[in-house]
Amino acid sequence: MSAPRNLLTKMLVVTLFVATLSLKPAQVSGQEGIVVESPGVAVDFGRSITFTAKVTASSSIQQVSLLFREVNEEVTRVETLQPAGDGSVSFVYDASLNVIRPFSWVVFWFQATLTDGKTYTSDAIKFQYMDDRFPWRQINQANVTINWYAGDDAFGASALDVAGAGLLGMKDFVPISLTDPIDIYIYSNVNDLQDTLLLGGREWAGGHAHAELGVVLVSVPPGSSQFIEMETKIPHELAHVMLFRALGDQYDRQPAWLIEGIASMVELYANPDYARALEIASENDTLIPFLDLCASFPADSGSAFLAYAQSQSFVTYIRDSFGTSGLARLTSAYSEGFSCELGATQALGTPLSQLDQRWRETVLGQNVGGVAMRNLLPFILLLLLVLVVPLWGTIDLLRHRSRNSNG
Ligand SMILES: [Zn+2]
Repeated sequence: MSAPRNLLTKMLVVTLFVATLSLKPAQVSGQEGIVVESPGVAVDFGRSITFTAKVTASSSIQQVSLLFREVNEEVTRVETLQPAGDGSVSFVYDASLNVIRPFSWVVFWFQATLTDGKTYTSDAIKFQYMDDRFPWRQINQANVTINWYAGDDAFGASALDVAGAGLLGMKDFVPISLTDPIDIYIYSNVNDLQDTLLLGGREWAGGHAHAELGVVLVSVPPGSSQFIEMETKIPHELAHVMLFRALGDQYDRQPAWLIEGIASMVELYANPDYARALEIASENDTLIPFLDLCASFPADSGSAFLAYAQSQSFVTYIRDSFGTSGLARLTSAYSEGFSCELGATQALGTPLSQLDQRWRETVLGQNVGGVAMRNLLPFILLLLLVLVVPLWGTIDLLRHRSRNSNG
């Protein structure tokens, strides 16, 4: 998820937007005053985006500007261009700056100010900033499109089947949409995917969902393990997209353990290493408290792996104990803004830290009661001492008395 934009920037953008609107009727006319011929865009993924056009008008042109932005962004970039004698303009945008995210849609248009001081605006044109480094092939059904470049036809068909099975499998926990398009891009190796994620200004991951774009990126090498990789990664990332679509702005309010737990729970292939990781961490007392997995997951890969294993097991435990309606109550409590600890109280009647303890006892067979007893032991000894010493005194006294009476 992208970080929330700071308030100041947002206010500035809103102010600029209002200013643009109020200027519009006076200075900006329709496009009829100018002619924009053959507007074009050439993408060299990760390196450059070149915008070109030929802008002409009935009277002479004072200034030409190119305006562009990601479709869903509020900030529009404005570049002043110097037209050639025939009206040709071009602008090369440095795509290595990582500002435009891979696979996002970009909209651009031109404005020209003529000698009479009037500004004319061309129609806007939309294009997708595609990763064009690979010869993508496509197969699609309903709203899901699989894009892949390595592997045969059967590879693409298998991925489509897995996506369908994944959606079917998650429909009880996640409201799924079968109309809004989803694009799944399958890279043949982690390095190719990693390059793309880095180009988008993101850190490495085995798979990634640009949830707001409806784009899923995964790496699945064709070969003997392709089905396992598909069954693990595709449903997981699809769940992120569907959760985002269902929760909208409230998606970012959900604890990391809940979102990742649901996404990991809908994986079609149960990772056997998760169970082993849980067992070892439980024995060594190195499980991560769920209160520490609210904001984000650990950065180092070992702890992150354990965080996924724990979250999958924990969310499955919650579903088994409270039903799918319990999970729904959890997401709505967190949507309402309850804290990580108290959202669980609101939804399930038990604070998160106590649920954590019950999960350790029920699923991992930990004797949390026994652990508590061990911690209390010094106090219990003290209590016994306080109680036993007077008792011993009483017994002693009674013994004396009976000896005396016998005597
Ligand atoms: Zn995830």
